[in-house]
Amino acid sequence: MARDVVVIGAGIVGAMSAIHILHGGDRVTILEPEEPGGEQSASYGNSGWLSSHSVIPPSEPGLWRKVPGLLLDPLGPLAVRPAYLAQALPWLLRYIASGATRERIEATARALRTLLIDAPALHHDVAAEASCGHLIKTTGLLHVFPTRNAFVATSLGWDVRRDVGIAWQELSADELHAREPSLDRRYQFGVLVEEAGHCQNPGAYVAALIAQAYSRGAVKNVGRATGLRIESGRLRAVRTQAGEIECDAAVIAAGARSKKLAASAGDHVSLETERGYHVMISRPEGAPVTPMMASDCKLVATRMQDGLRVGGQVEIAAIDAAPNWKRADILRAHALSMFPELPRDLDASRIRYWMGRRPSTPDGLPCIGYASATRDVVYAFGHGHVGLVGSARTGRLVAQLVAGKAPEIALEPFDARRFH
Ligand SMILES: Cc1cc2nc3c(=O)[nH]c(=O)nc-3n(C[C@H](O)[C@H](O)[C@H](O)COP(=O)(O)OP(=O)(O)OC[C@H]3O[C@@H](n4cnc5c(N)ncnc54)[C@H](O)[C@@H]3O)c2cc1C
Repeated sequence: MARDVVVIGAGIVGAMSAIHILHGGDRVTILEPEEPGGEQSASYGNSGWLSSHSVIPPSEPGLWRKVPGLLLDPLGPLAVRPAYLAQALPWLLRYIASGATRERIEATARALRTLLIDAPALHHDVAAEASCGHLIKTTGLLHVFPTRNAFVATSLGWDVRRDVGIAWQELSADELHAREPSLDRRYQFGVLVEEAGHCQNPGAYVAALIAQAYSRGAVKNVGRATGLRIESGRLRAVRTQAGEIECDAAVIAAGARSKKLAASAGDHVSLETERGYHVMISRPEGAPVTPMMASDCKLVATRMQDGLRVGGQVEIAAIDAAPNWKRADILRAHALSMFPELPRDLDASRIRYWMGRRPSTPDGLPCIGYASATRDVVYAFGHGHVGLVGSARTGRLVAQLVAGKAPEIALEPFDARRFH
């Protein structure tokens, strides 16, 4: 019998979940207080990477030695706001531990690979169905380095990638610049991952998927979930600021704001916001042909539908703390140095800044699975740096769980109870 399912949150993860649940024949209400795919969501402003090779956790062996330097450099690529340090400490310790050994990195990589392995193809199919297939490109992704030695210095991550079946092509300086004529000549080495792809407008992608869900009968509810009413092990309703929505099942896909909702379903998860920034430059004179990550600047440059997007930075701060736009200034300066054809005196009207909140667990693995309090509540949050790429399989898994079917991949690594 068809069930009434509330999907809480209409970022890319909620959108994918809604679409796949509808496929299964259940009725769906999409509960979202703002515009689906709007600026409040991480899904709006990400770098668009469908990087099936993003399997390495953000933390790395020896990171703890760098912590004092990171704390002293408030504008470095990874920073913790001092006022928030005490609160973030338990998460930070777990974060450091999760990348402390090769074994842990390998375990994360194996789990993430199952989630991401065919992500570009999955996105391609879903987007085609929602008439936005043109947004998905499967032309590979590039990593650029000043020298081959700089690449070798990151070999642990690449060795682990090779072990989980990821292949890439190395590019000499000539090959790199033949492909990327706008790129500054200081980059002398490239790595092309052909299996990967990208999305040219992540916000529009979410909006299109949600529009498709509505056209298939999903109900729109403009509201904010405040909790869940669970009685005798069954979900009775999702509580909102405007009253209750009675339902048989719910999906928690509220991104960085999922922690309290998971607590009301019996799980105290370790979830922080790794804030990131982007700079959009319209009508860029120089931009990458293939989206690229620059090892020295620690940023991603992607040519989007509406201009060049340069995204990056990791800042741990309170969820509603004001943005620090100096971080976006840094990205802007890096963009000018990577693509020398961009004019130094870029007109302000051509530049836009954005800050977003990655919903991040300390081990780089999302929470996907049933809640402790009831199997009527399914988790789909905590995707950190891989929420766009990981959303396609997550949506399928959520629908399988809602329908009580066996999930298509093992979900033990993604169990929220790992934080108990
Ligand atoms: C700078 C930057 C670059 C990135 N680049 C990439 C990339 O290239 N590739 C990649 O895969 N990932 C990338 N990411 C990460 C990716 O954007 C996120 O992991 C992903 O968007 C998370 O999606 P989500 O649906 O879980 O959360 P969100 O997109 O944040 O959506 C959550 C939604 O829930 C709503 N909501 C919140 N609280 C409630 C509530 N109580 N009730 C109802 N609704 C609620 C919000 O309004 C929001 O719309 C990047 C992130 C950043 C910041």
